[in-house]
Amino acid sequence: MPATNVVVPGIQDLEEIIVSESMIKRRVRKLGEEIAAAYPDEEITVVAIINGALLFAADLLREIRRPIRLDCIRVSSYRNETRSAGKPEIVHSLTIDIANRHVLLIDDILDTGKTLSVVVKLIKKLNPASVKTCVLLDKKGRREVDFEADFVGFPIPDQFVVGYGLDFAERYRNLPCVGVLKPHLQNPPEWR
Ligand code: 5GP
Ligand code: MG
Repeated sequence: MPATNVVVPGIQDLEEIIVSESMIKRRVRKLGEEIAAAYPDEEITVVAIINGALLFAADLLREIRRPIRLDCIRVSSYRNETRSAGKPEIVHSLTIDIANRHVLLIDDILDTGKTLSVVVKLIKKLNPASVKTCVLLDKKGRREVDFEADFVGFPIPDQFVVGYGLDFAERYRNLPCVGVLKPHLQNPPEWR
């Protein structure tokens, strides 16, 4: 799809839209139903990984018709280093008790799998009743550790994407769609 709509600031920087605003809205509504069906009688303790999951979580939570508790966790990015160097670390941990709770972990994108596997390990140490994971996007071809999410919005190809929470140097998070930046605006290869 060509990115022709220049009304939204920043959208002209996209080479291609991978997931449109209307596709996101439809899928988020459906994901909310799928998640509610997986927790028929339970209160859900949602843990969102910020900043990336902020926009997705905000929309998704309103589509999950169940009682919800919310907390956020901040994980350091290892992406300024070379591809597989560095390990994600928790830089701001949970502030609510999750023991014996049903935890739903939300992130923007599942790529190498390192971030979610580290966070799931941490959460499991706190003795929750259950842990499930939900991501908006899944780049299956890039996995470095064995990890699959329980709920996936869209599988996408191996391309660096921005928008709807995903950033490039903290920009473009407020785009209503997900897309690929024009080549001259893309990061140097060592950034990934
Ligand atoms: P993983 O640990 O699975 O490799 O990566 C997860 C994190 O890397 C995501 O939470 C996200 O912050 C970042 N990431 C992975 N792929 C992309 C991408 O295509 N675009 C952006 N903006 N961030 C990405
Ligand atoms: Mg992230």
